[in-house]
Amino acid sequence: MRLPKFLTIAFGKAMVKALQLAGRDAGNFPGLVLWTLDRNCLRHFSADCPIIAVTGTNGKTSTTNFLNRIFSSLPGDKKIITNMQGNNLDTGICSLLLQHCDMSGKVHADYLVLETDESHVPVIYKHLKLETLVILNFFRDQLDRNGEVETLILKVKKFLETYDGNLVLNADDPNVARLGLANPKNKNVYYYNVEKYEGATAELYEAGEGRFCPRCGEALVYDYYQYSHIGKFHCPKCGFGNITPDVQMRDLDLDNSSFTFEGERYHTKHSGIYHMYNLAAVYTAAKLYNIDHKIIHDVFENFEVNNGRLEKFECGGSTLLLNLAKNPVGANMTLRLLNQDKGEKELLFVLNDNIADGCDVSWIWDINFSIFKGVTRVITSGTRAYDIAIRIKCSGYDPDKIFVYPELDKAVASLFSTAGNKYAVANYTAVQPTRAALRAYISEKEGK
Ligand SMILES: [Zn+2]
Repeated sequence: MRLPKFLTIAFGKAMVKALQLAGRDAGNFPGLVLWTLDRNCLRHFSADCPIIAVTGTNGKTSTTNFLNRIFSSLPGDKKIITNMQGNNLDTGICSLLLQHCDMSGKVHADYLVLETDESHVPVIYKHLKLETLVILNFFRDQLDRNGEVETLILKVKKFLETYDGNLVLNADDPNVARLGLANPKNKNVYYYNVEKYEGATAELYEAGEGRFCPRCGEALVYDYYQYSHIGKFHCPKCGFGNITPDVQMRDLDLDNSSFTFEGERYHTKHSGIYHMYNLAAVYTAAKLYNIDHKIIHDVFENFEVNNGRLEKFECGGSTLLLNLAKNPVGANMTLRLLNQDKGEKELLFVLNDNIADGCDVSWIWDINFSIFKGVTRVITSGTRAYDIAIRIKCSGYDPDKIFVYPELDKAVASLFSTAGNKYAVANYTAVQPTRAALRAYISEKEGK
């Protein structure tokens, strides 16, 4: 059905109003209704400001939050519209626009900063004029929703063939770097990377994709891997790779979370190599908008994304680091951080198989648990607590040290029954319940 513009917007806004009056968050619902009535409903919207979108398998929410914070810090009370909570499908973005547009469908703001699901980039930006697209990485993720990663990359590539806006690409991911070739006429392609750091390896450390040349199919040769298939690569046959980045993060010191961009030293509260790649993407996008370096210093140093992405919790002298993992790469990154911590520690793994997680949990077999160092106990929880326990047992870990508590509050209580450092990994729908369970336990324990 193709509804006239006025009717679509009026009906959509009425739904948003009704939900707000009922004290409910508009969330995804109004967009979902409009989309059901008219799959091209996004054509009715426009914006009078630059639209910056962030996509890729891992790191979208953090990168979007950082960019939002940077644009929000600009002088003169700027209006930024963003979907920080990650409603990143066409229906979520449609709902967001409905909340902020006038009756003609026009959104008035200074910047729109939109986290966008990879498979929805072509759908959404067919209708909305995109000024800058940041692409972080492509890993295997939620297979039953997206199909194979290659299909996804080809979808984005097709969109990029006629796109001539700013394109910010990770030069160290062959799956992303190849997209710089999609439209040879686009002169606005910018690459970023991170200089080889001390944790880089000569051999592939974890399961990864993208080890074949996207141009000619030859096996890619890597000088080194930073993590998963991210690293310095080239094709011995056609020469693809060896990209000179426009922005490079240099002298990365992970122990002190500091690094250099263009001769200036920056600090961050976060750690982990993949977060550093996110910051390199943020810096490159900010550079396109000539953001004052003082703002970048301030945001990098002081801003923390407290949404279960490398979030720290303190309880009774123990520190817990929680990280979301929707796929093997995300989980392997947390295990890397756990191994960087030289002492003894315990791990909580919470695995759900709700629809938003993709019901297939077979990706846990691609997590490299055999690299565990100094892990004295593992606790598993979630609707698939037993599956993850079996997976860890099969990696050769001592089964007597694995404890299964499908109920989260029991798992958290057991975790904090001992002293020492803790790490927690939770998948998509598990991360918010895990945060809630941690907070509830800590506030009861510490009376906060
Ligand atoms: Zn090649």
